[in-house]
Amino acid sequence: MKLHNDTYDAALSVFERAVVAFCRGEIEAGEGLLATLDRNAIERDRTSLRQLARTAQPMATVPASERDKRAVSRATKEAVQARDRFHCRFTGRRLIQTQVFHEVSRISEVFHFDEHHSVKDTRRGRAGHPLVRSHGAAYEHVIPSACGGHPTVENIVHTSVQLNEAKGAAVLPKVAVPNDSWNGLSEHLSDLKRQRTSPRSRAEAPAPRLSPSKHIGEVHQPTAPRRVGELASLLNAASGLPVSVFASAVDPEAEHQFSRLRSEAPNTFFANRTGSGAWMIHRLHCSSLAFNGSVQLTLRPKVCASRAKDLHEWAKRLGVAMQECSRCRNAK
Ligand SMILES: [Zn+2]
Repeated sequence: MKLHNDTYDAALSVFERAVVAFCRGEIEAGEGLLATLDRNAIERDRTSLRQLARTAQPMATVPASERDKRAVSRATKEAVQARDRFHCRFTGRRLIQTQVFHEVSRISEVFHFDEHHSVKDTRRGRAGHPLVRSHGAAYEHVIPSACGGHPTVENIVHTSVQLNEAKGAAVLPKVAVPNDSWNGLSEHLSDLKRQRTSPRSRAEAPAPRLSPSKHIGEVHQPTAPRRVGELASLLNAASGLPVSVFASAVDPEAEHQFSRLRSEAPNTFFANRTGSGAWMIHRLHCSSLAFNGSVQLTLRPKVCASRAKDLHEWAKRLGVAMQECSRCRNAK
């Protein structure tokens, strides 16, 4: 089923113009565009996606023991990206690569990305922008795993975050990939990564010197002063505790080391700062990390420990509230 409407395309166009402005370093212009996104119209559009999900055909399920519960691999995601080019295969709509949202959220004071895709304020933090649900690209089983589907290139397609969450164990007819040059705005990622945070946040805090830590390498890359300030205090809080800080802003190896730990020791605890400044403890196997393989996870520092109590102690030193994720509290 094709699902077109002017609201969807208008929001996409505004967001794309904001991204282009950010890429040119025109941060105030980009912020102005993002502030004009019509949240109410996007919410109404999410309702139309939920209605579409209800038209999906239920399919016989297979016993739990026969289900293929493997996560979609990075290689499969890359093949799906190359084939579907960030078009929803159920509506034909153009989608936005999740990492673009991450970068825009890092630069912007008005656009917030919540990695759990919450659009309401929760204990975890402030509400994320609803555009992430309507326009964000997810990876969806055509034949659901509950119905015997596998996480293979043939059975995984792009769809929106909203449709992915609403469809459940049912099947929608596929549409062809439109013949256009759309690629999810991924072509702007390298320019976005070069941009610093908004001028307002830069003005807020002078940059303290980053103190060296035995847990982490030297400072190799410049980073926005506010982020350095935060990093310095969370590195200081880790000093002498059996916890490790992984932050790509100060350590080019951090992402690689973090993903190695994630595959080798999935029960390890990590703490993550949500958008509001609240901290949350997860296990490395938490599905909140698995959503999009192309996201650079250590852009937001990850603080790891084999015991949750050490992360609580670390939070106490830092003077921040710490909560535990209910999804992944237990060992795998
Ligand atoms: Zn979790």
